[in-house]
Amino acid sequence: MTANTFSDDGMANFGTLEALTVRHCVLPVRRPRAHGSGRVAGSVEVIILELRTSDGVTGWGEASPWAVFTGTAEANAAALQRYIAPAVLGRPLAAVAATMAAADAAVVGHPEAKAALETALLDALGRRADVPVWTLLGGLARARIPLSVSLADPEFAADQELLHRVHADGVNIVKLKTGVQDHAFDLMRLERLRADYPDLDIRVDYNQGLPPFDALRRLRDIETFAVTFIEQPVAAARLETMAMLAAALDTPLLADESVFSPDDMLRAARARVCDCVSVKIMKAGGLRRGQEIAAIAAAAGITGYGGDMFESGIAHLAGTHMIAAAPNISLGCEFYQARYYLENDLLGTPFPIEQGHVLVPMTPGLGIDVDREALAHCTVATREVTAS
Ligand code: MG
Repeated sequence: MTANTFSDDGMANFGTLEALTVRHCVLPVRRPRAHGSGRVAGSVEVIILELRTSDGVTGWGEASPWAVFTGTAEANAAALQRYIAPAVLGRPLAAVAATMAAADAAVVGHPEAKAALETALLDALGRRADVPVWTLLGGLARARIPLSVSLADPEFAADQELLHRVHADGVNIVKLKTGVQDHAFDLMRLERLRADYPDLDIRVDYNQGLPPFDALRRLRDIETFAVTFIEQPVAAARLETMAMLAAALDTPLLADESVFSPDDMLRAARARVCDCVSVKIMKAGGLRRGQEIAAIAAAAGITGYGGDMFESGIAHLAGTHMIAAAPNISLGCEFYQARYYLENDLLGTPFPIEQGHVLVPMTPGLGIDVDREALAHCTVATREVTAS
């Protein structure tokens, strides 16, 4: 008889999950923002997860909820401390998929908390195995990701200043947040952007802000500005309206709020509600689930885009590794907050952006360490749970 080749002993060689520290953090932002649904002013709140293994390896993860979109910081902290930690502590670090299944079985929903957990697992496993996270997700499909910066300031002059600055840094993609004030305001801003930057890659995002009545006529006006895609014009649940708009418009229609999970993606593909989809680890509940969404989209001829929530550089890094290993997420990413929106980020060295592209880290784990002093400065509550 030969020994079982898939033994727990083999997995134990990478260590087990010993402790989870859950920190509730408040991150000041530079300017107010307005969207088709939801506003931001003053600060955003994230949950930073620190995982420690029996080998003394540390892994970091982040849950970046937004109350009007995915969930709340309080609920995600509770999900991690009270439900997920007891279900996953003591498990082998290498058993990432099984550990995520245990987290799913322990508490429904809370995709941001699960994204934080999977990020921390992959970061620790990558450090332990001395490989970047993207190697654990299928290997490198791209080493640079085009960066889009979002324009959502209630005062257009502030957005123009921001664009001037990021364009000088090499950024040539913007996402204009529309459907907040009136249609004339959206057309005026597009006119100015096209006049000032003729070659700019412009996308628009309504964040569900258009009523179905008159939506098609307004979007036909938007099309005259040659935008690359139109994102989530109507409410998430209005799949029939999305499908009608996708069929009627020449411009690709992108689904964001309509697609959180692989199940949602399958439904959206069957109903032909979109030409492209925003894949976010905070909606999907992790990096691998984001890749599953991208794979279903690819099978349906739908192209992926790397979306995010209001995140620090830690979650940006997680999204970067996911996209690095996902061939179908080819429309760029929007990981700009760490550099251009937060007053202070949490990474020890700046989130890597060069000439309008995010550079995929080639160092073990997520590739950049957390600045513990910056983290302590923004933490308002801490709770550690250990394996008993
Ligand atoms: Mg969006």
